[in-house]
Amino acid sequence: MERTLSIVKPDGVEKGVIGEVIKRFESNGLKVIAMKMVRMSKEQAKGFYYVHRERPFYDSLTDFMSSGPAVAMVLEGENAIANNRELMGATDYREAAEGTIRRDFATDIERNIVHGSDGPETASFEISYFFNELEICG
Ligand code: ADP
Ligand code: MG
Repeated sequence: MERTLSIVKPDGVEKGVIGEVIKRFESNGLKVIAMKMVRMSKEQAKGFYYVHRERPFYDSLTDFMSSGPAVAMVLEGENAIANNRELMGATDYREAAEGTIRRDFATDIERNIVHGSDGPETASFEISYFFNELEICG
């Protein structure tokens, strides 16, 4: 069993696809074991995406991530990290495979509906960014 962090980003909340995204997780072996709606500050978004601080899109990305409510979740399942990444699809929705969340709902490389951890260490950092152990019902 593995855990990963998922976020339905502010564009996903705005588009009303929270339920659709969760449905895809639940029908594909990922169990929601923690969940909360969060309105990140610019500083919180910058801390979350600290690894991307040198990227040209860092400022715009953190503006976007702090622009409205998002839904953070801990998902648990076999190969949860890779499984979630597969359900999400490529970062750029134009390159994402048919039937993936980003291909189906994203219309912009930055506003791409969901976030998912990309490895065990980032998953552990990102889960603890939003949840303490008492809030995780695994
Ligand atoms: P992923 O979310 O697929 O793991 P990255 O970690 O590379 O992708 O990037 C983090 C987020 O930054 C992306 O989900 C997207 O919102 C944004 N992003 C990535 N690349 C670009 C880009 N070239 N232009 C604008 N935003 C980008
Ligand atoms: Mg990433």
